[in-house]
Amino acid sequence: MSNQIRKIAVLTSGGDAPGMNACARAVARTALARGLEVIGFLGGYSGLLEDKMVKLGHNDVSNIVNRGGTFLYSDRCLDFKTPEGMAKAVACCKKYEIDGIVCIGGDGTLRGATDLSNHGIPTIGLTGSIDNDITASDYTIGFDTAMNTVCEMIDRLRDTCESHARCNVVEVMGRDCGEIALRTGIACGAVAVAIPEVPFDEAAAIAKIKALKAEGKRNFIVTVSEGLGKYGEDLAKKIQAETEVETKFARLAHVVRGGNPTLRDRLTASEMGAKAVELMLEGKTNLVVVERNSELVACDINYSHIVDRMYKGKLKDGDLDPYSAEEIASMKELCAYRKAEIERLYALVDDLA
Ligand code: ADP
Repeated sequence: MSNQIRKIAVLTSGGDAPGMNACARAVARTALARGLEVIGFLGGYSGLLEDKMVKLGHNDVSNIVNRGGTFLYSDRCLDFKTPEGMAKAVACCKKYEIDGIVCIGGDGTLRGATDLSNHGIPTIGLTGSIDNDITASDYTIGFDTAMNTVCEMIDRLRDTCESHARCNVVEVMGRDCGEIALRTGIACGAVAVAIPEVPFDEAAAIAKIKALKAEGKRNFIVTVSEGLGKYGEDLAKKIQAETEVETKFARLAHVVRGGNPTLRDRLTASEMGAKAVELMLEGKTNLVVVERNSELVACDINYSHIVDRMYKGKLKDGDLDPYSAEEIASMKELCAYRKAEIERLYALVDDLA
């Protein structure tokens, strides 16, 4: 089977994440080691539409395993979603006679990869996102680094909060997913955590700050997910008004996207990249490589997309039609597991604060 494949492509798309470089490098190096030709497209799906191709040899991916960002650049390409854009992207893949393409990115990127595969381009999706919001996977590349960065920032804020007897409400990225806010909240000793997945008991959080202040506590950290819109800013004002603890609001924003990837992200990225190439060599495509129970496994790209929609409450009429009752049951089970995991962690916050 392997001798049927000659050339593969790789791109990174959507929001960048630390570890994307390590991942693209692993794709390139594994493919080169197996005697394949490798090309990259620059700037995500725009690179396909605008024909921005680079050949990738061994040295082209040197010195990046440890670096944040993505040397292939990234983009949000709206034209790719149109029939004309898709036709251009398919034509570009055909022009370079690639036998498959590895698309590294978040849920939007995987959605795009699903469309590409459904248009006849053999595709493998890899989960690169700081948000950890791909339902089919326990883990997305960049999540660990982003959380470590948040922890470092919050630890710094805590120092100054302690000196000045302040509260800091810290908003972190994650789109509609509260995982970063939740896990860093626990790891940084937040007094409260507000995320989209679980109703937030604002009155209880404020009462807790008042009670702890009365006992002599000086510093308070609250983490809020960006998925709650401007709520973090409002909450900071309310906390200050009701507790008389001076309260600052900090939006960590894009600082959390950058920086050198942690060992966890470098390793997972490397393993995922290598796995993508091995799958292609076995003639297996239209898959997403996901982590389940500490193991990397291949998941059908359409299935991954639909279970993601199910979890996010975005299912459309007919989405489940291609699937058997057994498959639908397994999707529901996975969604329930994800929800339960978030609720389990959330339940820790109050007791630990
Ligand atoms: P991420 O991959 O980090 O979730 P985006 O949601 O911006 O980031 O998606 C990245 C790119 O994937 C988009 O710019 C677009 O080119 C493509 N994409 C996103 N959503 C879709 C969709 N529904 N259909 C086809 N392509 C999509």
